Amino acid sequence: MIAEVIVDVPAQQTDRPFDYRVPEKWSGMIQEGMRVTVPFGPRKLLGFVVKLKESSEFKSLKNISGLLDMEPALNEELLELGHWLADETMCFKISAFQAMLPAAMKAKYEKQIRLTRGMVVSDLLPELQPLFQKTGTMKWDDAQNNELLPLVKKEMDRGALELSIKVSNKGNVKKEKFIKPLLDKEGLITQLGEISKTAKNQRCIIEYFLENPIESPLSKVLKDTGLSGYSVIKPLVNKGILHVQERESYRDHYEQHEFQADAVLPLTEEQRGAMGPIERAVEEKRNETFLLYGVTGSGKTEIYLQSIKRIVDEGKEAIVLVPEISLTPMMVTRFKRRFGNLVAVLHSGLSTGEKYDEWRKIQRGEVKVVVGARSAVFAPFKNIGLIIIDEEHEGSYKQEEMPRYHARDVALKRASYHHCPVILGSATPSLETFARAKRDVYTLLTLKSRVNQRALPEVSIVDMREEMRGGNRSMFSELLFEKLKERVEKGEQSVLMLNRRGHSSFVMCRNCGLVVTCPNCDVSMTFHRVQSQMKCHYCGLEEGVPNVCPDCGSDHIRYFGTGTQKVEEELGKLMPHARVIRMDVDTTSRKGAHEALLKRFEDGQADILLGTQMIAKGLDFPKVTLVGVLSADTMLHLPDFRSSERTFQLLTQVSGRAGRHELPGEVVIQTYTPEHYSIQLASEQDYEGFFMREMFLRKQNDYPPYYYIALLTVSHEDVLKAMDTADKITTYIKRHVSPSTVVFGPSASPMSRINNRYRYQCLLKYKREPNLAVILKKLNETYGRNAAQSGLQLSIDVNPFIMM
Ligand code: ADP
Ligand code: ZN
Ligand code: ZN
Repeated sequence: MIAEVIVDVPAQQTDRPFDYRVPEKWSGMIQEGMRVTVPFGPRKLLGFVVKLKESSEFKSLKNISGLLDMEPALNEELLELGHWLADETMCFKISAFQAMLPAAMKAKYEKQIRLTRGMVVSDLLPELQPLFQKTGTMKWDDAQNNELLPLVKKEMDRGALELSIKVSNKGNVKKEKFIKPLLDKEGLITQLGEISKTAKNQRCIIEYFLENPIESPLSKVLKDTGLSGYSVIKPLVNKGILHVQERESYRDHYEQHEFQADAVLPLTEEQRGAMGPIERAVEEKRNETFLLYGVTGSGKTEIYLQSIKRIVDEGKEAIVLVPEISLTPMMVTRFKRRFGNLVAVLHSGLSTGEKYDEWRKIQRGEVKVVVGARSAVFAPFKNIGLIIIDEEHEGSYKQEEMPRYHARDVALKRASYHHCPVILGSATPSLETFARAKRDVYTLLTLKSRVNQRALPEVSIVDMREEMRGGNRSMFSELLFEKLKERVEKGEQSVLMLNRRGHSSFVMCRNCGLVVTCPNCDVSMTFHRVQSQMKCHYCGLEEGVPNVCPDCGSDHIRYFGTGTQKVEEELGKLMPHARVIRMDVDTTSRKGAHEALLKRFEDGQADILLGTQMIAKGLDFPKVTLVGVLSADTMLHLPDFRSSERTFQLLTQVSGRAGRHELPGEVVIQTYTPEHYSIQLASEQDYEGFFMREMFLRKQNDYPPYYYIALLTVSHEDVLKAMDTADKITTYIKRHVSPSTVVFGPSASPMSRINNRYRYQCLLKYKREPNLAVILKKLNETYGRNAAQSGLQLSIDVNPFIMM
């Protein structure tokens, strides 16, 4: 038997299966999708068996050296999905496979020293013998001290010891001891009488089991008795009073929480209207995609829960994707309450071990529902009945590293395999999705009103140019400052959002709000501090910064970019009494910090929550009556054709957050471009108006959803090399694409240098490009080969979400 194996080397040259012989002892055991270890040159590597076959065209094959799984890590569907993913996103097969598995299943390569075949411990120098006594191996690192190393070296030179690489899982399976009494009540009482009065700990344990005559994990016994260490139990095990067994156990992130079951809510008429078509699709096992379009609070989540209930009752499984940031305890609680321990939760706040355990529960079919961020779309369920993507427009569904997949595409692919429906939910669907719903590719389900009929908050737009002209140079408008002060005095809470993303700045006139845009591309020019130049990152145009505004002649023209820290400082000066919690990448990088800060705010330990867009989601605090957006424009002027869409989504999102409860809410949006349609329409919560407007512009400029795009980025430490390669690639592409495809570039990337690597890009717009896969593959082969030696990196992003 021969196995085709994809090895753990993400490189162009190794991106194909290698043949290995299956040793006799494993024939019949090895299956496709299992992870194995194989010799590869001088190394030993992890690999995935992708195919088993009878013969190979190669003569001298090496043997598979180890088996890492007893069950395939990737079932048939996922293995196939991996190949598809590699083709679709132009990534290495090994990267695709690994992306589908928890990090714990990546390989850990550990150097070891072991006895050479045929040698026994007693052949070694006496000093070394005890070290090799137990397993015949020792860790390489343990040998790295001055006394041992010369001896080990000597034995290695002699051929008695050799270096080997141990390949194992990164994460481990947690084992736990479970204790139970072997005697009945009377037996235990008798024992209690016989044990000496001074053996307090032992007596304590026996008394514990008298009261709890059931099997319990060791940790629980120790916790309940206040004792520590297995050593207090061991004597009782030796005497035959207690029994101990070690078994696998799961690490449960939510162990401390108690979830009360909650009842299914009777649906409103509008909800029933949306539920009907979903139920029919479920019943008929139809692979239909729904867009559930409904404002925040319209009861989408309740529809998800009830649809899942149907699936679970039929013995099938459901995947629910939620943006990382909204995987708040609140969200998790809603699912746990409805489905109890049939729910697995996957998000980045879990430890590697916890994630591994959740994954194993899914693989073993012990849970029926997974709620998770992007990568949960690969949950190894075998009988999927429904896939849900909440907030489908969210950027976090696109992975920005290899494999550059969008979870929505993967979900649709898996749903077609399982013949099941998909629900995409959003109050502000992505343009692509809404356009498909309009063309009946997806079925549109609309929820127009909030369940509790609570009105949407009142939104005021403040023109910061007026403030400026009126002499207010602070980052707070008078209106926002007044309202903020009022809230602090009344003991109500406010949320302040500084809309800031990316690292680039733009040049703007503070007098009239003009932002310098590229005459060719209609995107804002990016300011580069070092050269004091503005650049267009689509077409490459460069210009100096004007001294006066080309529109109004004011000399208040300068570049923009402000941080949360600066806002916090200013708040401290203006309102020294206000208690502020700042939430941004700096204050939330520690594990659990995000949750902890939100909790503090919820508990009323602060008056103002200040943060970047990360605070816009999952935010649902009864006492928040004011939401302030400090700078609605920041994102508007990023060099990205989606910047209006993102601004609209974000502003709609935050506006929907105020006044969800008894107290009415207010929103203040500060902007230099109050007339911009995405700000106007967001303040009116007019999604459809925005859709029409934006679609018109996309059509005019040949952007998605009218055209597809692909972005190629070349990077190199040497600016000339990067530029030159980008030039060659662009020329090659221009020569090989069909006439209807438009090619832009080469031009410097918006982030033109990252980690001392210069970046250049080439952009393709196409409606149908039959040669695309072939062209990209060819480029990957040409420029991806020997990437290590040449220092060149080529990244290909088909349907990029972020254009930088
Ligand atoms: P969305 O997901 O659209 O934001 P939710 O499903 O979270 O909306 O619903 C908003 C609020 O209304 C929640 O508190 C939810 O419990 C409640 N709710 C939803 N559906 C119903 C219903 N049919 N009857 C009563 N309350 C409901
Ligand atoms: Zn101006
Ligand atoms: Zn341009």
